[in-house]
Amino acid sequence: MTSDIGPLQAARAALEAGNMHQASLLAGAAFRAAAQADDHGRAEAGYLLCMAQFRLGRWPAVLESGEASSPLLHRIGAIVRQVEVLRWVTIAASELGRFDLALASANESCRVAEAAGERVPLALSLMALGVCIERMGDPWQAHRLVEEARVLLQGENSPYAQSMILNNLCASYLGAFYLLRDGAAPAEARAVLEKAVGHAREALPLMAQLPNNGILSAIIEGNLAESLVHLGQCDEAEQLLDRALGRVNEQGNTSHGWRLRYARGELLLARGDAAGASRELSALWQDLDGSEQSNTLTRVHDALYRSWRALGVHARALAHLEGFEALERRRVVAQLQAQSRLFVTRVEAERARLEAQVERLRAAEFEADAQRDELTGLGNRRHLERRLPPLLAAAAASGHPLSVALVDLDHFKHVNDRHGHAAGDRVLTVIADLLRAHTRATDLLVRLGGEEFLIVFTDTDIHAAQEVSERLRERVESHDWTHVAPGVVVTLSVGLTTAPPYDLAALSHSADLALYRAKRAGRNRVVVCNDGG
Ligand code: GH3
Ligand code: MG
Ligand code: MG
Repeated sequence: MTSDIGPLQAARAALEAGNMHQASLLAGAAFRAAAQADDHGRAEAGYLLCMAQFRLGRWPAVLESGEASSPLLHRIGAIVRQVEVLRWVTIAASELGRFDLALASANESCRVAEAAGERVPLALSLMALGVCIERMGDPWQAHRLVEEARVLLQGENSPYAQSMILNNLCASYLGAFYLLRDGAAPAEARAVLEKAVGHAREALPLMAQLPNNGILSAIIEGNLAESLVHLGQCDEAEQLLDRALGRVNEQGNTSHGWRLRYARGELLLARGDAAGASRELSALWQDLDGSEQSNTLTRVHDALYRSWRALGVHARALAHLEGFEALERRRVVAQLQAQSRLFVTRVEAERARLEAQVERLRAAEFEADAQRDELTGLGNRRHLERRLPPLLAAAAASGHPLSVALVDLDHFKHVNDRHGHAAGDRVLTVIADLLRAHTRATDLLVRLGGEEFLIVFTDTDIHAAQEVSERLRERVESHDWTHVAPGVVVTLSVGLTTAPPYDLAALSHSADLALYRAKRAGRNRVVVCNDGG
């Protein structure tokens, strides 16, 4: 027992002292020493090992220790730590261009954090998903995800999470810059760099509040310096890079150091020292050989191409341009494969989940207290009274439009008189089906009574509501009603109105008025109330 506790405690102490190299050695020893049956000991050691390796930027090792410890952490109920590990795996896999694995871990960490109802871990998981999407080549989508993470964190006191998120907003803008730099939008390229700088400057003091912030601060300083170099603010960038490289080298670090050295190469280029840049970047390129650091390697090829081109050494420039393009092609292929396997299925799963949830809620509400119309299965008037006020309040709060259609069958008395009440009932159930088919799960459908129905189209302006109503009218008219009884003809009239005003009485008054006009104008038509009364 004591032999397990010894190295674990020592690893923790090394982490707290900021000595990541020592921590990774000790945690590795503790992980190996922990008995196979000791889930707690192995999970804790695996977690510390993964953290130390993440801080050191040893991406392949992060994948290995992360995959070993994530299920153990889950088994012992250490959900917050499991989410952390999954996030480190996501970022490491993204850096290595292994997007399949990165997306799978990001999705899993989002799912685990969501199930646990933990806000900060969920925000950080979303951020990691953003990092992955950025590396896959879509910094704008990445940016939306990281912004979503930032919103989720509002009101939480977590300087660590806040500074990480700000740093990744900076990184996603930097990613956007690399896509825009040689394009037709120099002003836009500059604007994204300025945003990158702003976020990094906000992140640094937050990170400085935390103990043992050395490496993480160095990462933020590196991103800030890289952005400043491209803005031509080389002196400040140089100071930042020197400090960051000092911090990183203290830890015997690799990938973070490589990225900082790349930024130094860009700095030399920006100062017009193409010879110095080609020398330093070539040395870096040699060190990167065989490292699988596809992201940094791509940047280095690009910078070396520009350096040799500036020096007029075209053969070397061409070789690096080809290296750059080969890596870009590989990234695009990996991106497409990962997306088609995981992203699409996730989107579909999300939609199915949402719809199932809406259905469940609706069913539960119906059960609750007689809000369902017996004949058609639609909501009844009581359902409308229960559901419409909150829909109106939500639309009013967000300022989104909401439209209401009052639907009444034409001369329905004749259908009953000529074909019997049972045929009339069958017509009403078919109408209910057609109404369901022409509306969304989020719309509200009600049988007000008799042959009168109401549709509340949420988040829909009057033009869209008019289109839907017109389609519905056509479908009812062209429906083959002979299945109900030979010779049956059914048409309907619709009175349409829209909010604002977000007021129930005003809406029902104007819908009534529009329906009355539709009837008077000859029926089988959609009329919009546009005189506000
Ligand atoms: P208009 O075009 O002016 O709306 O004419 P209408 O005949 O549809 O209107 P009216 O309001 O005069 O008649 C509605 C008829 O709907 C009366 C009733 O026979 C029929 N009805 C009401 N509820 C039911 C029901 O549950 N089942 C059946 N089969 N018919 C119903
Ligand atoms: Mg009628
Ligand atoms: Mg009627």
